[in-house]
Amino acid sequence: MLRVENLVVRYGDIQVIHGISLEVGEGESVAMIGANGAGKTTLLRTIMGLHRSFEGSITLDGDDIGSLPAWDRSRRGIAMVPEGRRVFPDLTVEENLMIGAYSQPDAGKVKALAAEVYSLFPILEERRRQVSKTLSGGEQQMLAIGRALMAQPRLLLVDEVSTGLMPIFVDKAFQALIELNRRGVSILLVEQNAAMALAVANRAYVLETGKIALAGSARELLDNPRVKAIYLGEAVA
Ligand code: ATP
Repeated sequence: MLRVENLVVRYGDIQVIHGISLEVGEGESVAMIGANGAGKTTLLRTIMGLHRSFEGSITLDGDDIGSLPAWDRSRRGIAMVPEGRRVFPDLTVEENLMIGAYSQPDAGKVKALAAEVYSLFPILEERRRQVSKTLSGGEQQMLAIGRALMAQPRLLLVDEVSTGLMPIFVDKAFQALIELNRRGVSILLVEQNAAMALAVANRAYVLETGKIALAGSARELLDNPRVKAIYLGEAVA
């Protein structure tokens, strides 16, 4: 579905991604794990079309989307849940969800999409008239995921869903991603929380200073001594 080849990304003169290739197949859940500053957010922003200074190719269903604006990539089925939630703080839960569906002209369809988000996150329905800045961090994260879902993505890009959340909310957020994947949404998630990411994903890549250092099934990477030592904090004999 998504294929990224020989991607090089720069900010001005500084190159931060040095020629990486990756794929996400239809229905797959793929994780990109890596430390702070490895280039994970940059990768997602480039796939979404929010950062345009790159070389290499980005294709979706075989079509080159690398020169398309972000709205067109969104129209083709890609949505992004940004790091730090980034909901509109002064709008209600419901208003934030409606913004996610801005390109959907059919009001009945928008209502049905909201109902689907509420079925995934019942707490959002309870809080639907509440101003978003007064939600807990975990609730805001659910809202950020819900808002991305309102665009009916086929491929969801998820940036550090676990950042700043208590473990119980981290679990909930990852459970939601598993459920979405079960419903047929392909997922590319970037994470520092390697244990969680590898528990959710079918396949994963390890990104180190802008290069793919390792790739394999989640199982293979969980058993990899280097991943264990660096990303899972396990002592290796
Ligand atoms: P984190 O887990 O800390 O969010 P990350 O893996 O997502 O890190 P990026 O945010 O993609 O990493 O950053 C990769 C590198 O690019 C870093 O060295 C960062 O300082 C640099 N960088 C990111 N955004 C910009 C920008 N707008 N201008 C210049 N350099 C940037």
